[in-house]
Amino acid sequence: MKETPYWWETVSFPAGEAEPPAGSVDVAVIGSGITGLSAALDLARRGLRVSVFEARSLGWGASSRNGGQVLTGLHLGPDVLLRRYGPDLARRLFAASLTAIDLVEGLIENEAIACDFERAGHLEVAARSSHFPGFIEAAADIERVVGHRVRLLTRDQLGAEVGTNAYFGGMLDELSATINPARYTAGLAEAARRHGGRLYDQAGVERLTREGARWRVITRRGAMLADQVIVATSGYTGPATPELQRRLVPIGSYMIATEPLAGELAHNLIPNRRAIFDSNKFLHYYRLSADGRLLFGGRAGFIPETPRSVSESAEILKRDLVRLFPQLAEAVVTHVWGGTLDFAFDEMAHVGQLDGLHFALGYAGHGVALATFLGSRLAAQLAGDTVENPFTEIPLPRAPLGALYTGRPWFLPVLSTYFKLLDRVG
Ligand SMILES: Cc1cc2nc3c(=O)[nH]c(=O)nc-3n(C[C@H](O)[C@H](O)[C@H](O)COP(=O)(O)OP(=O)(O)OC[C@H]3O[C@@H](n4cnc5c(N)ncnc54)[C@H](O)[C@@H]3O)c2cc1C
Repeated sequence: MKETPYWWETVSFPAGEAEPPAGSVDVAVIGSGITGLSAALDLARRGLRVSVFEARSLGWGASSRNGGQVLTGLHLGPDVLLRRYGPDLARRLFAASLTAIDLVEGLIENEAIACDFERAGHLEVAARSSHFPGFIEAAADIERVVGHRVRLLTRDQLGAEVGTNAYFGGMLDELSATINPARYTAGLAEAARRHGGRLYDQAGVERLTREGARWRVITRRGAMLADQVIVATSGYTGPATPELQRRLVPIGSYMIATEPLAGELAHNLIPNRRAIFDSNKFLHYYRLSADGRLLFGGRAGFIPETPRSVSESAEILKRDLVRLFPQLAEAVVTHVWGGTLDFAFDEMAHVGQLDGLHFALGYAGHGVALATFLGSRLAAQLAGDTVENPFTEIPLPRAPLGALYTGRPWFLPVLSTYFKLLDRVG
């Protein structure tokens, strides 16, 4: 079994600039995932001089490893959004998630990115019978507040959508999509370069210092001056931006891919090719790939990926997969991999400015659409446009643990045991 993302075999990423970074730009972007590339593309299109700095190879982070579920909604349910932010902001936040998917679709079309985008819809399934009443409430809130309609499915109706009887009902949103995320990310990189952006790989930013009104961006390969800096490092945010690192919790998520399944077997698993995830805290998410593999993910543990956590996840996820779909007992798992996503302490996505640095992060597992949206909105804002972006109204909170938290999440084992317990009793 290969311990690298299946997606990486479906695409080749563009190589980075051969020359080391030098000179000056209008905007420096740190991180070459969807956030950074979406911002860079938009800035370059508007004629600004932009350089992207990536610590590893281009697109190396979560953006090329994820489940490729392009989802409506946010990590937090509509009930929490309403309670916390009131009807107006909750409506605009949810509406932004719908706009985000249109934006992804438009970008793919305009930049001719071949990435298997399919409006297949997403299906959230109730892992316990006690979770289904929450779906009924959520569907009503979404229709009442946002004017967007999702469909509730009873346990019996689920048979037409998923080949297991493990669930207790579902909520279907036809607007969501699936995508090959590595091809999408590579396509964004190519488009950003085509429009004049410069992309530097193996150019981890080590330090940022002020030089008058500008920033000196010091990377492993050279330095550059920039008028503005965008930090787009999500779950991989590190010591170069310590204040941001302290406000994020990196959380590991893991995936396996089966070999391509026989047509009928694949069809019977997910007849309508939905993106599916369940309602547990330790949730599973899955979908079919274009070539008929089942891609199955979950938080086998909460810790960010290490070689050990990746190989352990292969066993855990295969066991969970067969428990759900006994018909896959003989299916060969060809790939396992992990990636790191980022949670802010309020579990919301954020865009803003901290110590003079712009940032967009905290997607909590909903980054494919939202990172495209926030990257692009941030670019528009830096270019001087006024754009609707409700996320600017939510401040990025500090860690409740204060100085006890420096960005190394020592509490994850406790949290993961607690969540496992909640899933069992919930
Ligand atoms: C296994 C997995 C499954 C997921 N499934 C889904 C899904 O189905 N749907 C969904 O919407 N979301 C999903 N997500 C979340 C989604 O992938 C992320 O929210 C999104 O990709 C974040 O994009 P980004 O550009 O902000 O960060 P990333 O893609 O993580 O990019 C950050 C980059 O910054 C670089 N970097 C860090 N520090 C520095 C530095 N100092 N200098 C230079 N570069 C640096 C890193 O190397 C990295 O490449 C999933 C995530 C994982 C890990």
